[in-house]
Amino acid sequence: MKTILITGGNSERGIGLGTAKRFAEEGWRVIILDLAKEPGDVCKKVVENSNGAYYSCDVSNKARVDSVISDIFKKIGFVDVLFNNAGILQWVPFVDVTEEQYDREMNVNLKSMYLVGQPIARKMMEEKRGVIINSGSMGGKDGAAFQSVYAASKGAVIQLTKIMAKELGPYGIRVNSICPGIIQTDIGAGAPDPVVPWIERTPLGRLGDTDDVAGVVWFLANEDSKYLTGQAINITGGMMTF
Ligand code: NDP
Repeated sequence: MKTILITGGNSERGIGLGTAKRFAEEGWRVIILDLAKEPGDVCKKVVENSNGAYYSCDVSNKARVDSVISDIFKKIGFVDVLFNNAGILQWVPFVDVTEEQYDREMNVNLKSMYLVGQPIARKMMEEKRGVIINSGSMGGKDGAAFQSVYAASKGAVIQLTKIMAKELGPYGIRVNSICPGIIQTDIGAGAPDPVVPWIERTPLGRLGDTDDVAGVVWFLANEDSKYLTGQAINITGGMMTF
């Protein structure tokens, strides 16, 4: 049985849980790390039915991440695929961003990829196999106003992914990032712009849903994408084409 570890997979309408459902349906074991002390009902069902596990874990907290990952290695063993999905978005004008806001968003969106990715990648290097998928964003290529830290962190994720692919490729490990456009989850709450203009700017004529992302993560996790690494894959209905 193959295992996927998904960070930020508890949110009911989120990309992480949508992806977790897809992998569980395909017969994979699903491990989820998220902030909540206890998983929500849907998340609980997905991890239980897939013979997986839920860990309450702030992915920006090194001590907690280290202890969770070592527990996973002890109790479950090898992680075939890591989906670094946890992320936050704060809408703040550049000139008003506080040091605390900057640190929080950078730590959750970018530092977590080191904290979770390093121990998992070390194990994958020993085994000479594995796949890592990092959550970038359309915002990491061309961000919107009032999301300077988000766009900076996601741009950095896209770059980090390229370097990880170069360093880990010789060990048989593939690393790609995904760059969703506007996917209907809770992360967009508080956005200053109305939704309609975004639909009008999308050639496929609709916003994305979590299935749209889960399908791409599924492709990247599997052998059909075996010659693909270091890429930043847009999932935007055509809104972003570079
Ligand atoms: P959601 O807010 O629905 O889900 C994010 C999840 O991450 C939540 O379960 C949240 O927990 C969890 N989380 C937040 N901080 C931490 C932390 N420190 N440690 C562990 N878990 C944490 O957002 P999405 O599903 O939309 O986003 C998932 C990823 O996709 C993010 O990286 C986002 O940037 C990216 N993305 C999303 C797009 C979209 O349009 N939806 C577009 C482009 C990229 P809690 O709910 O308790 O806060």
